[in-house]
Parts: sequence; structure tokens; C-alpha cells
Amino acid sequence: MSILITGGAGFIGCNFVLDWLKKNEERVINIDALTYAGNLMSLNELKNDKRHIFVQGDIGDSDKVATILAKYKPRAVINFAAESHVDRSIIGPEQFIQTNVLGTFLLLETVKTYWEQLSELEKSEFRFLHVSTDEVYGSLETSDPGFTEHHRYKPNSPYSASKAASDHLVRAYHHTYGLPVLTTNCSNNYGPFHFPEKLIPLVIYNALNKKALPIYGNGQQIRDWLYVKDHCNAIRLVLSKGKPGETYNVGGSSEKTNLDVVKTLCKVLDGVSPREDGESYSQQITFVRDRPGHDHRYAIDAGKIAKQLGWQPIESFESGIRKTVLWYLENQPWVEAVISGNYRDWVSTQY
Ligand code: NAD
Repeated sequence: MSILITGGAGFIGCNFVLDWLKKNEERVINIDALTYAGNLMSLNELKNDKRHIFVQGDIGDSDKVATILAKYKPRAVINFAAESHVDRSIIGPEQFIQTNVLGTFLLLETVKTYWEQLSELEKSEFRFLHVSTDEVYGSLETSDPGFTEHHRYKPNSPYSASKAASDHLVRAYHHTYGLPVLTTNCSNNYGPFHFPEKLIPLVIYNALNKKALPIYGNGQQIRDWLYVKDHCNAIRLVLSKGKPGETYNVGGSSEKTNLDVVKTLCKVLDGVSPREDGESYSQQITFVRDRPGHDHRYAIDAGKIAKQLGWQPIESFESGIRKTVLWYLENQPWVEAVISGNYRDWVSTQY
């Protein structure tokens, strides 16, 4: 038996693959285009593990995906592959449409063709799990209840609009063709192997490298944060117990302003890796011009997955942030390599 993962060299995908192979014997086929965000160094510990098969490729390359499906006959596909950075989507939205909309569509088409050729039993057991974001729901006011699965889609950035479109396509392939799909909409993740362009790893990197800690606007934007391993647990649970055609919201019940996140990071860093001059890292906080169209608040109501599938996050924000800071301190070579691009040279010698 095997499962096919797309985007498994990215932040959440690599954490998922590593966790999966710790908990299952089942083989993982991992297709990833290795964009700037994909990093095989994150999967280094699997280099000699025959249960992990890596293929460099695009989800929109239908021939390649069809060949993989025919060869390995996976019982499930989990789609992590995406362009994922909101700021990049503002500067260059086209790639987001290309991968997140067209890529997901082409992947669905290829998977549907494969699925239609399975036996009736295999067909009923097959799953296509699409990993998505809470950003598709748009922005909340401070006093609004969190997003449920019934919340109206109202995406505000090219990134969230492209993910919303992909969610709709996934839904349509269930309703129109009967493909057994599942969708998860999760809040902001943090943890090991997070590319240092996103808030938490960027702040850790900049703090340790005596750089400014940039905060958009007044820092009062609110996000719900979830430790990446808890997200991976939720995805495994939805894959095994979720009902085809359903969507599941996943969140940490851990709403923080961006300023609070950065202050918490500074406090943890002050404790575990103090500045040479004894001052707090919070001295490095700098407020910068706000992101255009910046959503004020995202919050998830994870009641459905808790009630129906029994999922709960294990880490609190404080314990997860501490683990994350310690991981970055212990894995500086990974961070340096990702930032310098050296890992691409390393990859060419490994695969
Ligand atoms: P990421 O940017 O770290 O990784 C994306 C991966 O996809 C990279 O390895 C990249 O090389 C690969 N990829 C990009 N385009 C591809 C293509 N056309 N074909 C094949 N591979 C391609 O993203 P992430 O943070 O790991 O997010 C994974 C998924 O989870 C995304 O769909 C994202 O929308 C969703 N999500 C992310 C978060 C978060 O906080 N990071 C929260 C909720 C949902």
C-alpha cells in the first residue's frame, strides 16, 4: 500500500511525511516541483529509507502524475503543493493561479482518470485530501465568532482567492464525478522546517542575526496559530475517518496579535539564547508599512473535527513556540542553507 503526497518537500508536507513514516509502514510517494519553498534537506533523515520515494515534478504535469499513479497505485492522494506566501501573491499573482488553480484542476483530472479505473472496492476506499487554509473565509471583526465550515467564502488576497478556487474545484469533483474528496481548512502553522520568509521563522532568524524584527502596521492583526505536528495529526485523522465530500476546519484555539507573537518569541529567545548585551530581543522590533488589504482577524471554530473525529491539538502556543525556537537554534545550518540557496547544490549531489 502507498499514499501519494504532493508538495512533500515544503514546510507542512515534509513534517507530514516525516511523521507518517514514524507512525506507519506504508510507503510515501512524494512529488514536489522543488520551487524556492521546497527543500529536500528537510527530508534528509529519509535518504536511505526505501519507504520514501521522491519524484521531482509539477502537479500540473499530467503525464508524470499519471505515470506515478499507474506505477505505485496509491490508495490516497494528499495535496499540499501550492504557492503559499501571501506577500508573494501580491507582487506576482500569476504563479498562484498557475499552481493553486490550474495545477489543482489538472491534478484532479489525472486523479479522477486513475480513480475511475479502480475496482469498485478500491474506488470506495480511495481518498483525495486537499489541504487548504482558513484565509478562504476572509476577515473577521474582533467580536465575531470563529469560522465554521458553513462560513461564506470571501477571500481577500490573490493567495486566498487561488486557494478558494481550488477548494471549489475539489468540491465540484465530488459532487459532479463522485471522487471521494476531503478538504481541511487550517489556521496559521508554525514549527520546524518553516521557510524563513514567514513571520515566526523570520523573527527568530532576524533576532539571532541582529536584524530588525519587522511588524506590519500596528501589529494588531489577529491570527490563530497551530503547531505543525498538530495539523499533521488532524490530516491523518481526516484521511482515515473523514467523510467523503466533507470539509474540516482545523485550528489551535490560540488567537494572538502579530505583536504578541513577536513579543512571545523575544521572551523565549531572551531565556534560551540571550543577547550579548543583556538587552531583550524586543529592542529589535520595528513597525513597517502595512501589507495592502491586510485581513484583520482569522479565527477557527474547530468544533466539527473535535466532535466528529475526536481531534484536539496537543501543543499550547507557549509549548509549541518554545519547541520551535529550540529547533531553529539547533538547526542553524538548515536555515543558513535555505537562505543562501546552498541546499540546491547539495540536492544535486544527493538525488
Ligand atoms: P510551502 O510553500 O512551504 O510548500 C509548498 C510546497 O509545494 C513546496 O515544497 C513547493 O516546492 C511545492 N510546489 C509548489 N508548486 C508546485 C507544483 N506546481 N507542483 C508540485 N509541487 C509544487 O507551503 P506550506 O506552508 O507547507 O503549505 C502546504 C499547504 O498547506 C498549502 O496548500 C497551503 O495553502 C496550506 N496551508 C498552509 C498553512 C500555513 O500556515 N503554512 C496553513 C493552512 C494551510
